[in-house]
Amino acid sequence: MKSILYITVFYIFLSLFAVPPTAAQGQAAGPAGFSQVAPGLYFNYDFGGSNSAVLITATAILVVDTRMHPDDAERLLAEIRRISDAPVRWVVNSQFHGDHYMGNAVFAREGATIIAHRDTQEVILERFDYEVRTRPFEQRGQNREDVVLVLPDILFDRKLTLDVGGIPVELIYLGAGQNEGDTLVHFPHARALHTGGVFHNRSWANTSYTPSVDGWLNVLRAMRRIDVDVYLPPHGPLASLADLDNFIEFVDRLHQGVKAAVDRGATLEETLAENLFTEYSDWRGYERRERNLTALFELLTVGEAQYFVPSSRAAPISP
Ligand SMILES: [Zn+2]
Repeated sequence: MKSILYITVFYIFLSLFAVPPTAAQGQAAGPAGFSQVAPGLYFNYDFGGSNSAVLITATAILVVDTRMHPDDAERLLAEIRRISDAPVRWVVNSQFHGDHYMGNAVFAREGATIIAHRDTQEVILERFDYEVRTRPFEQRGQNREDVVLVLPDILFDRKLTLDVGGIPVELIYLGAGQNEGDTLVHFPHARALHTGGVFHNRSWANTSYTPSVDGWLNVLRAMRRIDVDVYLPPHGPLASLADLDNFIEFVDRLHQGVKAAVDRGATLEETLAENLFTEYSDWRGYERRERNLTALFELLTVGEAQYFVPSSRAAPISP
C-alpha cells in the first residue's frame, strides 16, 4: 500500500441527505480543455472523449478519472504541472468504464493512491480485457499495448472522506445508477459535485449497464439533494441544476417510451421506430439512440442488456 499510512481516511456510513435543493439555474457550460471551476478545482473537458476533475491544493492534488489511455493521462498531468508541482496524492476512479481509468498507470507512477468503489473494481476485473480489445485507440493515434491494468489501492462501500491538503472531499455511493459502483465526488468547499456515471450532461449516456432504470432515477433524485452550485459530469460540459433536471427527465422519458411499447407487446423494431426522441438529437451521442433503446428493451424483456453480457461480441463499448 503506497501512501495510505500518512493520510487520514475516515469511513462513515452514509446518512440520508437532508439538505433541501437550491436553485442553481442557468447554463454553466465551460470551455473545452482544462479550466478552473472554483478555488483549486479544475475541470478537464473533452467533448469527444471523457472528462476529469482535479483539486489542487498547496500540498496535495486529487484527480477524478484518469481518462482512456496513458497518453491522455500524460496530457492531463501536463496541464496539472503547469499549475502545481504538489504531489498527486489521490486518484478516484468514478466508474468501471475504461475511458475513466485506463490512464491509471501514469498517476500510480506519480505515487498516487487510487480509490474506487468495491463494485467498480469487480467489473474492471471482469471487463478489462474486453475494454482493451474494443476501445478505438487507433482513431486517437494511441497504442493499444500501452494500456496496463492498474487496480485501486483502496476500495470503499458507502462514503469516504479524504483530506486533500486540508480540504475535505467526500466520495459518496448512493447505489447503482448508470453503473454499479457509480461514485460521486463532492467538493463542499467549492459547492461542486463530480457525478460519476450517474449524470451525463446533454449526452446520451449508455444505458447498457444499468441494472434498473428506476434505481438509476432514484439515485439521480437523491443526488439532486446534495446542495451544490455546479456539476462536473463524466461526459458533456459543466452543468447546472436545470441541466440535471433535464437529464432526469430524459432518462425517465426513454424508460417510459420503451416500457409503453414493451407493455403492449411491440417488437424491438416497432419500439425503435416509434421512439425517435428527436428533441434530444442535438445532445452528444444521439447516434447511439438505437443501441441505448435496444439495451432498455432487453432490460425490460429478458432482464439484462445483452450488450453487457461479458461473452458478448457486440459492438465496442463506448461512454
Ligand atoms: Zn465514459
